[in-house]
Amino acid sequence: MTEPLIKVDLNQSPYDNENIHNRWHPDIPMASWVKPGDDFILETYDWTGGYIKNNNSADDVRDIDLSTVHFLTGPIGVHGAQPGDLLVVDLLDIGAKSDSLWGFNGFFSKKNGGGFLTDHFPEAQKSIWDIKGMFTESRHVPGVKYAGLIHPGLIGCLPDPKMLAEWNRREVGLIATEPDRVPPLANPPFSPTAHMGKLKGDAKAKAAAEAARTVPPREHGGNCDIKDLSRGSKIFFPVYVDGAGLSVGDLHFSQGDGEITFCGAIEMAGWVHMRVTVIKGGMATYGIKNPIFKPSPITPHYNDYIIFEGISVDEAGKQHYLDVNVAYRQACLNAINYLTKFGYSRAQAYSILGTAPVQGHISGVVDIPNSCATLWLPTQIFEFDINPNAHGPVVQDFHGIDMPLSHDLN
Ligand code: ZN
Repeated sequence: MTEPLIKVDLNQSPYDNENIHNRWHPDIPMASWVKPGDDFILETYDWTGGYIKNNNSADDVRDIDLSTVHFLTGPIGVHGAQPGDLLVVDLLDIGAKSDSLWGFNGFFSKKNGGGFLTDHFPEAQKSIWDIKGMFTESRHVPGVKYAGLIHPGLIGCLPDPKMLAEWNRREVGLIATEPDRVPPLANPPFSPTAHMGKLKGDAKAKAAAEAARTVPPREHGGNCDIKDLSRGSKIFFPVYVDGAGLSVGDLHFSQGDGEITFCGAIEMAGWVHMRVTVIKGGMATYGIKNPIFKPSPITPHYNDYIIFEGISVDEAGKQHYLDVNVAYRQACLNAINYLTKFGYSRAQAYSILGTAPVQGHISGVVDIPNSCATLWLPTQIFEFDINPNAHGPVVQDFHGIDMPLSHDLN
């Protein structure tokens, strides 16, 4: 393998590596430059920069300062790329760092981050997943093993000043509608923990005060958390600044659709081997506003599922109008209830839905008042028969194995 263009040392703080950044801003200098047609390898931290440890305590998930994330590698400048072009990125391969063959999945506490089912799982919890070649399994979630669907949770190009101002306008406006909400509606710029790469001094302070946080996906891609944007896929990114400024991080060994556990998929440190080319003027030529991509020819071959339905009636019986978010939540809760009949704790079941290659589908959005969402649970990831039958489930003996829990409600 060729020498990485950018390396990371997992024993060094990401703040001490100037090829890393954790905000979006057009003034962040390029970490390195390449030419169209070049292929190169970027190493990455996990999204928390190594804060979450391979141990049996969830206190790190409970206590993490979420203003520090995500630690991204880049930006990479591509000679000749100009605003209006498309940057074509081939994800040639992705893997875990050889000195870090594990990943984590967790649920944030409701008071610090939350998650899709935070009202049902208000305390921080964590599971550790060992990476064994192309497979993963967890000492905290027995009875399942699956092949990696390895992808970057976060990849995108730098915004220009106009786009950055628009992001801040609309997100700060949303926060203002309910400023005291826990968890918050969005995350405004926050300079104290900003890492602006090579940018230093007054220029750094000025940019950090307005730099966008990396949490949401936006027009440039960013934190899309699309499990199928996996190694072998080809992505077409809108370019907003000279050189494009491509950054990547938040690598996932595997994830279910929705990344419902939020902390997160199976999060890992690793490396991305990629090739970049440019389509001049491609944004206008193809009418591109958000990135488009072509999937990988290689995905885990799971072809049998149990499919759970959910409708837009919430847990309290309240009728919502065509709300797909509510419907997908019900499909997930229905799957969790089902899995507990086989011996899993609710937390283990939630962790499986967040980490396994679970599919989520929007099935109906027109049949008023209920939308219908479905969650597709692959049956072949289980080491026992998970199918329903007339004899009832064979309850597994997991000998009290469970996920570390942090008691933080006070
Ligand atoms: Zn992630």
